[in-house]
Amino acid sequence: MAASCIFCKIIKGEIPSMKIFESEKTFAFLDINPLSYGHALVIPKHHGTKLTDIPDDSLTELLPVAKKIAQAAGVTDFNILQNNGRIAHQVVDHVHVHMIPKPNETEGLG
Ligand code: 5GP
Ligand code: ZN
Repeated sequence: MAASCIFCKIIKGEIPSMKIFESEKTFAFLDINPLSYGHALVIPKHHGTKLTDIPDDSLTELLPVAKKIAQAAGVTDFNILQNNGRIAHQVVDHVHVHMIPKPNETEGLG
């Protein structure tokens, strides 16, 4: 945990979030500024800025949880995005996997 990290505060419940999933090593919640309806973030509870800062055993659930969220929400088409570093457009310095649904364009958002 890092005292000033907003995602660590979300894990601890110090900042409210729309929680989707929680296990011993993993937490998932809705993105506050969604790129499409259902845009979710899946994060390791272990604090670290980049994938390279996180032990492997804290990374193993990230994709399976993103997959389960998509399945549970009935999302068939989606993007998985994971940014590392400012040049790669990372804004929040706690590893996170985006699950961004891509709805049919005739259905609106996205
Ligand atoms: P990045 O560009 O670092 O990959 O994406 C960070 C994501 O975190 C953005 O999509 C942004 O909307 C989301 N985000 C930033 N602050 C908060 C917050 O306090 N709560 C939630 N739920 N999402 C946040
Ligand atoms: Zn953190």
